[in-house]
Amino acid sequence: MLNINPANESNFSILTKRLYRAGLCVLLLANPLCHAREIALTFDDAPTPDSALMTGDERTTRLIAALQRAKVPDALFFVKADGINKDTQKRLDQYAAAGFHIANHSYSHQAASALGHSNYMADVKHAHLLLKSQKNVLPYHRFPYLDCGKDKSSILSIQQSLSDMGYKDGYITISNYDWHISTLLSGATKDNKRINYDNARKFYVATLYDAIEFYDGIAKETLGRSPKHVLLLHENDAAALFVGDLVSHLRSKGWKIISPQEAYEDPISRDVSNISYHHQNRVSAIAGHSGVPEDKLHHVSEDVSYLNKAFVAAGIAF
Ligand SMILES: [Zn+2]
Repeated sequence: MLNINPANESNFSILTKRLYRAGLCVLLLANPLCHAREIALTFDDAPTPDSALMTGDERTTRLIAALQRAKVPDALFFVKADGINKDTQKRLDQYAAAGFHIANHSYSHQAASALGHSNYMADVKHAHLLLKSQKNVLPYHRFPYLDCGKDKSSILSIQQSLSDMGYKDGYITISNYDWHISTLLSGATKDNKRINYDNARKFYVATLYDAIEFYDGIAKETLGRSPKHVLLLHENDAAALFVGDLVSHLRSKGWKIISPQEAYEDPISRDVSNISYHHQNRVSAIAGHSGVPEDKLHHVSEDVSYLNKAFVAAGIAF
């Protein structure tokens, strides 16, 4: 029993603080609005080719190790099916063997607005035939360049055809240019520059995390809540090197990593108001549809010249 007198004031103060924190936790947990924000990881364009920084085999091995080390419950790899050959097949098998999933990102990775309905669907079907015998395939389709079609009627007819094939929309809620950060890293290696990996790690994590908060902010303003997010990443060198650090940072800020299947259960998966505003992410599409001006819907880092300058300023390559 605590002897509460001036001499034991510090014990009393500690006890009071503990009771206050416990009460606060109970209150927070009882409030449905105070749950952890949630996000799922998806990786486009697998299996990507060798780079100056690492081979495709190394990239897959590093990515799987990083995701497993970080205890990521699942990740979805959107496959560009013309990259599948007898060498890269084993990489898709590795993802499946590790418990991760793969999905359809078309065969030749062309924009739906350029191909039109019938050519685009032929491309998707080509990928479908190559993917249907793979292990751990999920029925999601993601448009290359997030381009869903040229105009409203084309978008609707492609969506209907994909739905008829049994596909669900593999939309994202958070955009970024992770692909350009990775290109800058491998390009610097190709140019025989020395990489400061600590600075590269900080740059990758800070840039992507800022974009995540930016789109979550738009979501909260537009929807009045934080949805289950789907983060766009690519199967690239930067992800292989730093995705574990990104996950650690997200968790340190109170985020929970969920599976893509769980994220795609969010009610925004059924919000089709994005018909008039595509080429980006669903949060921006919904906000754009509700009247937010387009120049408010892009994070500052979705700009190649911005990233080029920021990469230099971050002291990453010498
Ligand atoms: Zn892609």
